Amino acid sequence: MTQEYKGKSVYKGIALGPVVVFQKNDVQVKREKITDAEGEIARMQDAVSASQEQLQKLYDKAVKEVGEASAAIFEVHQMMLEDEDYQDAICNMIRNEMVNAEYAVAVTGDNFAEMFASMDDDYMQARSADIRDISNRLVQNLSGHAPVDMNGMEPSIIVADDLSPSETVQMDKDKILGFVTNSHTAILARMMNIPALIGVPVELDALQNGMQAVVDGFAGTFVVEPSKEVCEQTKARMAEEAEKQQLLQQMKGQETVTKDGRQVHLYANIGSVSDIASVLDNDAEGIGLFRSEFLYLGKTDFPTEEEQFNAYKQALQLMAGKKVIIRTLDIGADKQVDYFNLGQEDNPAMGYRAIRICLKQPEIFKTQLRALLRAAVYGNLSVMYPMITSTEEVEQIFAIVEEVRAELEAAEIPYKMPEQGVMIETPAAVMISDELAEMVDFFSIGTNDLTQYTLAIDRQNAKLDDFYNAHHKAILRMIRMVVENAHKCGKWAGICGELGADLELTDAFMEMGVDELSVAPSMVLKVRKNIREYSAN
Ligand code: PEP
Ligand code: MG
Repeated sequence: MTQEYKGKSVYKGIALGPVVVFQKNDVQVKREKITDAEGEIARMQDAVSASQEQLQKLYDKAVKEVGEASAAIFEVHQMMLEDEDYQDAICNMIRNEMVNAEYAVAVTGDNFAEMFASMDDDYMQARSADIRDISNRLVQNLSGHAPVDMNGMEPSIIVADDLSPSETVQMDKDKILGFVTNSHTAILARMMNIPALIGVPVELDALQNGMQAVVDGFAGTFVVEPSKEVCEQTKARMAEEAEKQQLLQQMKGQETVTKDGRQVHLYANIGSVSDIASVLDNDAEGIGLFRSEFLYLGKTDFPTEEEQFNAYKQALQLMAGKKVIIRTLDIGADKQVDYFNLGQEDNPAMGYRAIRICLKQPEIFKTQLRALLRAAVYGNLSVMYPMITSTEEVEQIFAIVEEVRAELEAAEIPYKMPEQGVMIETPAAVMISDELAEMVDFFSIGTNDLTQYTLAIDRQNAKLDDFYNAHHKAILRMIRMVVENAHKCGKWAGICGELGADLELTDAFMEMGVDELSVAPSMVLKVRKNIREYSAN
């Protein structure tokens, strides 16, 4: 039966396809009494087969991507899954205690993992984590919500309670048609150009993997098991959208210049090197915001200088001389990473984040700066710093940059000094933008944070949606002020927050003299079209 839910749209697009329920690894297992032990054992055997298939696909993918040696772990998992002692222990528990298979698997998994952990042999100890892993996989398959195994999965709509940036970033984009979450946490869908809704009150248990659904990012609706009629309408709208996209293609290769002849720089926002394909495909003139924190997310330890250097170098080489503005680490608030040990904060958006971490823990910052200065040799790099509130912070940053530069010089390691700018995303930075403009090469206005701090509206609190006015006069006046202060010092000012892609505001930004807009790759051609239609006269 058709079910329709309302949510908040994060990315305007439409998707139609099968649902996959995304389960975190920590599925809660309940002990339940059963009457049919053999039926329960048969369920367990089905889950073993499904797990074997998933592991085979993971193995094949891993062989291609990371080589046979690293892929071998999935073969080990397959062998462990077939282990007679392990399977017998599960079946005995089901028969003897008349309990559900999930519970028997979870308890057996724990017992075996503890047994392995207590062994003297290092190799056997390491198998403890593996047995937990295969038991989790079995439990997830038993509960009907297979772990999202992107390999071999047909393109699907991912439905989840919540999706952290690191979980999202590890997903295979080609396999995702849309996102739907219960929680109100902003997800990365917008950046991935994937239709998405947050705050959708759908019960995950009411969904089965494979059910058809529609995500409508324009209407903010999630329709499960839509009628034939709705499916047809959706397909027609998807075709219409595709046609509009087709027309926009004519904007490719055109200059971004207003009707009265003012050149504007139109760049794209990215979160990883793999997004560059879409930057080039949409004919952006450069990268205006590379959110470098994605090198830090979804990992268990800090990325090394070499890892960062290689990513930055690759980005610069792929952009072949076009401008690439890399923002230094912006961890904290909505982007949490365990190994930073940031601890619990009552108010993380106003907490220990971004440049504050870099200034307090300069060793983390210096690693990133070394990688950036070294990579700068390979293209047209600019660096910008997030969450600035004072001129003193900029002085401290420059002192650390100088230390790094001097160390590279002394060690005769090739490097280049990039242009340096600051993000204007706090009201404080706006109010002192006249002084900041004298210190830096450029400004990039982060309207997402600037709006939350100016309107005192937590970006992630859906209760405040009705109070949120992206076009608030306060923000528009601030942007005007920042641009004027930059121009007085002969510097340029751009916008890299979401507002930059707001097509209703392109004219206002042109009138204010904004020099650069950096938007999601999918918005580049739309914004270019608007700019080319603008004239001051
Ligand atoms: C912003 O705050 O506008 C911005 C571009 O940065 P982020 O969204 O990554 O905080
Ligand atoms: Mg920000």
